[in-house]
Amino acid sequence: MLKNIILLLFIPFFCLSENVDTLFKKKGEIYFSFEYKNKLELNKISKIVSIDHKITSEIAYAYANKREFLEFLNLKKEYKIIELKPIIYNNSNKNNWNYYPTYQEYVSMMYDFQNLYPNLCKIHSLGTLSSGREILIAQISNNVGNKEDEPSFLYTSSMHGDELAGYVLSLRLIDYLLEGYGNDSRLTNLVENIDIWINPLANPDGAYAGGNQNVWSATRYNANWVDLNRNYPDPEDGAHPDGNVYQPETIIFLGLADTVNFTISANIHGGVEVCNYPWDTWSNLTADNNWWQYVSQQYADSCQANGSSGYFNYLNDGITNGHDWYEVNGGRQDYMNYFKNCREVTLELSDDKTPNPNDLPYLWDANYPSLINYMEQSLFGLRGIISDSLTGLPINAKVEIFNHDVDSSHVYSHLPIGNYHRYLYQGNYDVTFSKNGYYPKTINTTILNNNITIENIQLIPINITNVSEVNKEINQINNFDLLGRKTNKIKNINVSNKSDDSVNKIITIE
Ligand SMILES: [Zn+2]
Repeated sequence: MLKNIILLLFIPFFCLSENVDTLFKKKGEIYFSFEYKNKLELNKISKIVSIDHKITSEIAYAYANKREFLEFLNLKKEYKIIELKPIIYNNSNKNNWNYYPTYQEYVSMMYDFQNLYPNLCKIHSLGTLSSGREILIAQISNNVGNKEDEPSFLYTSSMHGDELAGYVLSLRLIDYLLEGYGNDSRLTNLVENIDIWINPLANPDGAYAGGNQNVWSATRYNANWVDLNRNYPDPEDGAHPDGNVYQPETIIFLGLADTVNFTISANIHGGVEVCNYPWDTWSNLTADNNWWQYVSQQYADSCQANGSSGYFNYLNDGITNGHDWYEVNGGRQDYMNYFKNCREVTLELSDDKTPNPNDLPYLWDANYPSLINYMEQSLFGLRGIISDSLTGLPINAKVEIFNHDVDSSHVYSHLPIGNYHRYLYQGNYDVTFSKNGYYPKTINTTILNNNITIENIQLIPINITNVSEVNKEINQINNFDLLGRKTNKIKNINVSNKSDDSVNKIITIE
């Protein structure tokens, strides 16, 4: 694969502020390298600038905007500015996904999916940036838009605007799933049983920083020169770990993650070839470290089998614990895992951030079996529906693995279905289901990798003594909405006291 031609300029550490202005004259982000002594020092610097993926045991590469770089200069370290010369590829022969679409072509492609497959695909515009560019997401499922007993799965790519292999691969994946439905049994199974969400371009202002016609001047940061993958609430550092306000792109995704209860997701990047599993912010291991290693290695192995020699074998045979590699604060992966009880991994798909478009079909061949495998994992593990033993109505309850869960690794069942999805490495587990107002219930269950274990649970109410409590329960069900829509399914409720002092509820559902 072609490498970007880089020009190294050695700059001594005494950089005057007027020189700094010159550095940021062309664009609001710069790329540079510096030597570091140990991991502790690198982690400290990583709180100031955006450490890039390419590091050796002594040299780190990083991005910075002007504010970040001035702070870096206070450390009085030597550094080298690296000028990334944009490579302009011939993109005229557009067939078989060997090109980067123009912005307008991208938007048309997305809406074409919906027009061609209206029963399978919905395009949601999650928001419009001040540039006028939209953040779009495709929702794919049979009965698309109707809540069913399905996990919600998310692929999101290119929040770093210049890491673009995943942009085209995501578009192609949407096409592949829609075309495969009804023709390929495995793809049909995925579309029938998963609520699939694919966002090919999370940072359109970065990708099209040079204009809507091409991506050759793409930037890592967004239009405000903020690294979106340092802009999320952090499990350790809390709100605004990067010192910036939440960016419009971040707010859009926080809203999406609040609206759709994603159970598994992947955040697609580029610059190296590795699968990075949580955590990024601290050295704690997740409760499900063995499960993470298993699914990450499955991703890497299948890339190695389907790619050319040496593809996707960086670090530990193509996988790494995030913090082991280098610390990231404010990343989306940790946000999704810690705050949204979702399992999100970071996929780095190509050494070249913006690969030669002629290499995109090869990258697809190397990656699509892994992309499908990972999506299929969302069906496996422990799952079921949790309901009220009295009414049979689904409830929103907590699912906790005894002597196992830590750092928000528990999950919840969600209305209106009451379904929960808990991914676990194979073994035997004690699982407790609980909700305020109900007797908790603990069961013992066995999990096998790549298999489904179903445990439907009924929780017994402790006592429902008044109508308002019942109404609260009903409201919870009525208030559920998906992207702003309200579902009012309860038609009638009748509450009467029985002799044993509990309440008998007769509820009709439309
Ligand atoms: Zn990245």
